[in-house]
Amino acid sequence: MRFNVENTDGNARAGILETSHSKIETPAYMPCGTTGAVKGVRWSELEEIGYRLVLMNALHLYLRPGIEIVSDSGKVHGFSTWNGSILTDSGGYQFFSLKGLYKIDNSGVSFQSPYDGSKHRFSPESVVDSQVRLGLDIIMPLDHCAPGDASREKIKQAGERTVDWLGKAKNRFNEIGDETQALFGIFQGGAHFDLRNEYLEQSFKLDLPGYAMGGISVGEDREEGEAIVREITPLMPSEKPRYLMGVGLPGQILDGIQSGIDMFDCVLPTRMARNGTLFTSEGRLNLRNSRFITDDKPLDPECSCGTCKRYSRGYLSHLHKVGDPGVLGLLSVHNLAYYKKLVTDARDAIKGQNFNKWKSETESRWAEGVQ
Ligand SMILES: [Zn+2]
Repeated sequence: MRFNVENTDGNARAGILETSHSKIETPAYMPCGTTGAVKGVRWSELEEIGYRLVLMNALHLYLRPGIEIVSDSGKVHGFSTWNGSILTDSGGYQFFSLKGLYKIDNSGVSFQSPYDGSKHRFSPESVVDSQVRLGLDIIMPLDHCAPGDASREKIKQAGERTVDWLGKAKNRFNEIGDETQALFGIFQGGAHFDLRNEYLEQSFKLDLPGYAMGGISVGEDREEGEAIVREITPLMPSEKPRYLMGVGLPGQILDGIQSGIDMFDCVLPTRMARNGTLFTSEGRLNLRNSRFITDDKPLDPECSCGTCKRYSRGYLSHLHKVGDPGVLGLLSVHNLAYYKKLVTDARDAIKGQNFNKWKSETESRWAEGVQ
C-alpha cells in the first residue's frame, strides 16, 4: 500500500491511497458492505459512482458464511466479485451490539453467535489470521471500544488493552501477512485528551502504514468528541492515512476533513436512505413528507446518479410508501453518490486552496433547506 499527500489547505489534505486493487483519491468515504455487500446496491452501481474502496466486517464474514468458505471461494474479492479495494473492520465495535453475549479479557473476546448461540473466541492474533486469509487490502486490528459515557477508568483500561493488542496484531501480521496487505493501527481514549495523547504516541511507535481514531460518536458528549477530532488529528503522522472510524453525517465529514482526516466510513447514508432520508446539495430531504408526492424534480437537481437521472421525487416517494423493495437500492445509490460528490468537491476545494470558504458555502446551502 502506498499513500501520498498531494495538497494541503490548512490541516485539510488531498492525497492518493494505492493498494494492489485500486487507486483511491482522498479524502475518501467508504461505503459499508458489512456482511459482504452494500445492502440493496450492486457492485456495478458503486463502480459507476466512482467508489474504489469499500468497508466490510470480518466478524460478520466469520459468522456467516465463515472464513473457510470465503477463503476457498477465491477470498473476498473472488467470492464477491468486487474488484476494488476492501478494508475490514475486525468487529471490535460490533461486540457492543451483542450486549450481554460477550466477555472481554486481556487476551481477547469470548462471544456467542447471535444466530445460533455457538461459542467463539477472538484474539488479536486470530483476527489477523482471519483477515489475512480473506485476502483483504487493509486490515483493522482487534480493539476495545468502550462506550463514550463509560468511566475514565473503563476508557483507560480499553485504551491500554487496544495498544497491547495492536502490538500482538503487528507481530502476527509480520509472520503471516502478505506484502499486498496493510495492517492499520487503532487508538482509543474516549474524550480524554491526555489518554488520547498517550495511546496515540504508543501506537505510533509501532510504525504501521496507517492509523485510525476509534471510539468517536459512540455516545460521548458530541462537542467533546468533535474537540478530540479537531485537536488530535493534526498530531497523527502526516505521511500516513488517517482514518476516523464510524463517522459520520455530511457535516461531521467536512469537519473531519478540515482537521486532516483522510478516510471515513459510516452506515448512515445507506441506512437513512432506506428510511427515506436523502442527503442533497440543499440539505436533507425526507421522502415521507407528503409534499413530495406531486414533486417532479429529481432528489437532487445537482446529482448525476442513475436514480436522479431517471426518477422524480414523486415516483420515488410513491415506491417508498408502497414498500417496493427496489426503491431501497435506488435511494441508497443516491445517498452514496451524494457522499462521493461531497468528498470529491472537498478534494477539489483543498487543491484550489479554497476549502474553508467552500465548506461554509456548502453548509449555508444545507441550512436553507430543500426547495
Ligand atoms: Zn442522485
